[in-house]
Amino acid sequence: MPRLTQAKLAEINRNFDDRTPDDLLRWAVDIFGARLAAISAMQKAGSVICHMISRLKLDIPVLFVDTGVMFQETLETRDRIADEYGLTVHTLHPELTMAEQTEQHGVLYLSVEGQKECCHKRKVEPLLATKGERDALISSLRRAEGGARGECPIVAVDVEMNVLRVNPLANMTDEQMDAYIAEHNVVINPLHEQGFTTIGCNRCTTPVLPNEPPRAGRWRHLGPWSIYCGINPTDMLDDEQAPAVDFPQDLIDRILGQKTDFMI
Ligand code: SF4
Repeated sequence: MPRLTQAKLAEINRNFDDRTPDDLLRWAVDIFGARLAAISAMQKAGSVICHMISRLKLDIPVLFVDTGVMFQETLETRDRIADEYGLTVHTLHPELTMAEQTEQHGVLYLSVEGQKECCHKRKVEPLLATKGERDALISSLRRAEGGARGECPIVAVDVEMNVLRVNPLANMTDEQMDAYIAEHNVVINPLHEQGFTTIGCNRCTTPVLPNEPPRAGRWRHLGPWSIYCGINPTDMLDDEQAPAVDFPQDLIDRILGQKTDFMI
């Protein structure tokens, strides 16, 4: 199977830097059609993506991973997004309930290593269970988040899922996002109004103080070592690797805007 490397995406990433989120969403639909979905954790940026999909009348289903220990406000936001924006939201679940996991493995999220295992079981594996169903996933990472996302590519390979991740909001600033939300009265998780800058499971997320970094509320009990769950592979991209996905040649050609002639 032909391979598409992250390095080969460098030129389209350069070209895409000037394109609007609307353009990037339309590009993704043109290239991937029914083999495309969005993924949202029902935080602010995910709500913006869902609103854009609805406003542009794009036929893109939304995936939501319910770890079984989500805040009620997050589940209600998911339901409002589906109802008010007319979107198809697929909820993905881990294999075990949190009670079953605790019975078999103990309370994993109380240690740094256990957190990685718990996030893998409850967030990454439910998404991995859909592997093969799609060629691209729209995510809502923004460079303005800083940290590992400070330089996140607009289009990135996801080796484990064998899909491309498309981040149409990569260049959206905090101010632009807040302006979009205000202009369109976007449905937002009410926890954001209660001091939660980012929102994950109820076991591992707290509000932050005004002078704290935005991700300080995630895994606060573990200190500064754990700030990402692993569901977004660009958070973990290793410069030493040459990541790539396996795609049919005609799909690679469509993505790169080229034509490969096998007769030559
Ligand atoms: S955020 Fe906490 S409870 Fe949720 S999956 Fe990760 S470690 Fe487990």
